[in-house]
Amino acid sequence: MSKSNQLVNRIIHAIQSVAGAAGAQPIVLHEPHFDGNEWRYVKECLDSNYVSSVGKFVNRFEQELADYTGAKYAIAVVNGTAALHVALMLAGVVRDDEVLVPSLSFVATANATSYLGAIPHFVDSSERTLGVDPQTLRSYLKKCTEIRNRQCININTGRIIRALVPMHTFGHPADIDGLLAVAHDYHLALIEDAAESLGSRINGRHTGTFGLMGALSFNGNKVITTGGGGAILCNDEQLAKAAKHLTTTAKLPHRWAFNHDQIGFNYRMPNINAALGCAQLEQLDGFIAAKRALFEKYQAAFANISEVKLVQEPDHTTSNYWLQTLLLNKSEARAGSKMATGLRDLILSTAHDQGLLLRPAWQLLHTLVPYQHCPHMPLTVAKSLEQRLVNLPSSVVLTKSTITG
Ligand SMILES: *Cc1c(COP(=O)(O)O)cnc(C)c1O
Repeated sequence: MSKSNQLVNRIIHAIQSVAGAAGAQPIVLHEPHFDGNEWRYVKECLDSNYVSSVGKFVNRFEQELADYTGAKYAIAVVNGTAALHVALMLAGVVRDDEVLVPSLSFVATANATSYLGAIPHFVDSSERTLGVDPQTLRSYLKKCTEIRNRQCININTGRIIRALVPMHTFGHPADIDGLLAVAHDYHLALIEDAAESLGSRINGRHTGTFGLMGALSFNGNKVITTGGGGAILCNDEQLAKAAKHLTTTAKLPHRWAFNHDQIGFNYRMPNINAALGCAQLEQLDGFIAAKRALFEKYQAAFANISEVKLVQEPDHTTSNYWLQTLLLNKSEARAGSKMATGLRDLILSTAHDQGLLLRPAWQLLHTLVPYQHCPHMPLTVAKSLEQRLVNLPSSVVLTKSTITG
């Protein structure tokens, strides 16, 4: 057996020692966990006929999200992409602006920018946090922008760079202090894509509450789910009111009249989804404890495999450990074939053959067909990370029983 095949087998065995071996059903990357009041709250919606855009669970979910995250306001919407769309719009992003977005992210971060006619400008990530790297971003902006009338102008395109959208990758917080300083110095609105980081904190403060606004997602694969759903976090009352207004078709409150004062969106989270959300939020702390326990187990299982390491929360942060992640050493990543992704793809194909549905990181956004012509800075770290990241089975069910006894 070749050296890389041996390594792959050791890696698969380590995963199976934690996640178990797949039987008739494959072991998926992340499945939702409904172990609380989900049935009860959803039944209340059905029994009361309040299944749609009005109902007590939407308001309750918003209040509980605000309480949990410490944001002054939370506005529940249909999904995380819609949350990003509206947050960027309220941050003043308009047609032909540029928005700084990590290339190593889910496509929603770039799509939300594009819905406004703005252009994503892709930036590099940090090996330590997997999020936007403030140091390399700062030196890049210093070279390719100038400040005119308190606006950041891209001197190569002549366009205004209006906003920066860091993302907290797999739940691990980005270097928010460094990014806030860059945003301040370059007059950029900072919107956090916190879709993956509900429950993750930086020096005790919740992700998504540092920038002008933050976006959460409650898609089926996230740490808690509402089926589909999202939320906008913010601390400014005027912005919160505007976000609520825009996401509820911009209808002026009235007992019967349909008067809308701008082009709004039908982005309000339905009550039946919020009912799920309330039940899930009650279990969130338990889910996160289970995920931390899972990280410890993987950490122990991989302790003797020096060719890879597990991604760990950065200093001064607590991660929700949404997706457990292996990072292959740079020197190993090329083994297995001449392709840069040799070892990674060998791990993925061997695992899938055995019913372990591991996943690579996203294909870098600047290489996707709709985004190939967008501006980007040198993406050295993102390219390297893309070739070396592998997400492991991360479902709460893998350790929940050991937490609750
Ligand atoms: C999940 C996710 C979103 C939002 O996704 P929706 O499916 O629209 O809720 C946005 N950004 C990132 C990085 C995500 O992982």
